[in-house]
Amino acid sequence: MEAILVCPYPDCNFTAEDLRFLRIHAMRSHSLNGRCPACGKKYKKVLLHLSSQAAKDEKHAVFYALHRPGRYGGNNIHGSAKDLAVEVLEVEGA
Ligand SMILES: [Zn+2]
Ligand SMILES: [Zn+2]
Repeated sequence: MEAILVCPYPDCNFTAEDLRFLRIHAMRSHSLNGRCPACGKKYKKVLLHLSSQAAKDEKHAVFYALHRPGRYGGNNIHGSAKDLAVEVLEVEGA
């Protein structure tokens, strides 16, 4: 039995074995169209909003980890968003 990650977007059943693949999927399939996927509010710079909320809110951290540009896993201030995302999204697969 392997743990898999499930896309957090509603009505999306995409699953991935790795956060990297989930990130690729999220960037291709779910664009940030001026609306925060975590709280549904409108923002001009959704990514900036996500990053500012990531430390306080689990849901925002998850979406931030998916949409954050560049490679994840660095030692920057939001590096823990990646770990949190994996923790939150991971389910036991069949
Ligand atoms: Zn999805
Ligand atoms: Zn939000």
